[in-house]
Amino acid sequence: MQSTQILELIKYEGNNIFIKRDDLIPFSFGGNKARKAKLFFEDLINNKYDCVVTYGSFSSNHCRVVANMASSNNLSCYIITPNEGIKETENRKMIKLFGAKFIECELNLVKETIDNLLCNLKAEGKKPYFIQGGGHGNIGTQAYVDAFNEILYFEKEKKIKFDYIFHASGTGTTQAGLICGNLINNSNKKIVGISIARKNPYGKKVVYESVKSYLDRIYSKKINIEDITFIDNYIGEGYGYYNSEIINVIKQILTFNGIPLDTTYTGKAFWGMKEHIKLNKISDKNILFIHTGGTPLFFDDLNEIVDI
Ligand SMILES: *Cc1c(COP(=O)(O)O)cnc(C)c1O
Repeated sequence: MQSTQILELIKYEGNNIFIKRDDLIPFSFGGNKARKAKLFFEDLINNKYDCVVTYGSFSSNHCRVVANMASSNNLSCYIITPNEGIKETENRKMIKLFGAKFIECELNLVKETIDNLLCNLKAEGKKPYFIQGGGHGNIGTQAYVDAFNEILYFEKEKKIKFDYIFHASGTGTTQAGLICGNLINNSNKKIVGISIARKNPYGKKVVYESVKSYLDRIYSKKINIEDITFIDNYIGEGYGYYNSEIINVIKQILTFNGIPLDTTYTGKAFWGMKEHIKLNKISDKNILFIHTGGTPLFFDDLNEIVDI
C-alpha cells in the first residue's frame, strides 16, 4: 500500500503534534479498517474463499469497509449485528447499499449466530471467510506493523524522530501492530493507546494477547504487559460517550486545520491525548497522532457538533 501522508498539525504545550492521515486511505472513506481489510481480502482471494462473514454494531466502520470490499469483488457479505439500540447511521445505510445481508441477534447470541451461519453456508457448498469484529487478529496486526514501517520511512526521509505515537484504541489491534513494529525495529517510541471504551486490566490484556500472538508466530521478541500503555482515563460513560470538550476539539481541528474527527474514536482520542500530555507535563517532543478514520461517523455527529 502507498504510504499515507504525515503532516505537522499544531504546537501544543511545547510539543510538535503531527498527524498521519489513515483516514485518507483511498477506499470506502478509508480509516484503519480499510488498512486491515485490504490484507484480509488478499488472504481471502489467495485462498479462494467465496463469501465473507463478519460482525459489528450499527455504526461499525469495519462492517462498512468489509461490505464495500465484498461488493467490489462481487462476493456475498453477511453482517451479524446485535439488535440493541439500532439507529440509522451513515455506515448502516452504506452497508445496505452494498447489498450485504444483515443478520440481527441478541448481543449474547452473537457467537452462536456466527457459528450457525458459517455451518449453514458450508452445508450449501460455500467457502465462507470469517473476519473477527474490527478486523482483529494477526492479519489486522500486520496492517499496523506496515503502518509503523511507513512512519520509520518518513522519519528517515525528513530527518525527524517521533518520541510518541498516540491513537484511538478499541479492540487493540491497531495498537498491537504499532507495538510489534516498534519492537521489531528497536525503535523505542512510546505508543499510547487512548481507550475509547475498554477499561483496564481487560483492555491492556487484549492488546498484550494480540502482540504475543503476532510475535510468537514470526519473531523471537518478547513483551511485558507493563510495557503496554493503554490509557482508560478518557472513556467517560463508555463507547460512544462524549462531552463538550471533545466537541470543542473537533470544532477546532476542523475549523483551523480542515480535518474531520468524530466523537466515538478520533475526536475522543485527540482530546484524551491533549489531556494526557498536560497531566504528564510532556513537552519538547515530536508527537504523532494517527488519524484512524471514521469519516462517516463525523456526519452522524454533525447536528450535535453544530448545536453545542
Ligand atoms: C475501529 C476504530 C478504531 C480502533 O481500532 P482498533 O484496532 O480496534 O483498536 C479507532 N478509530 C476508528 C475510526 C475506528 O473505526
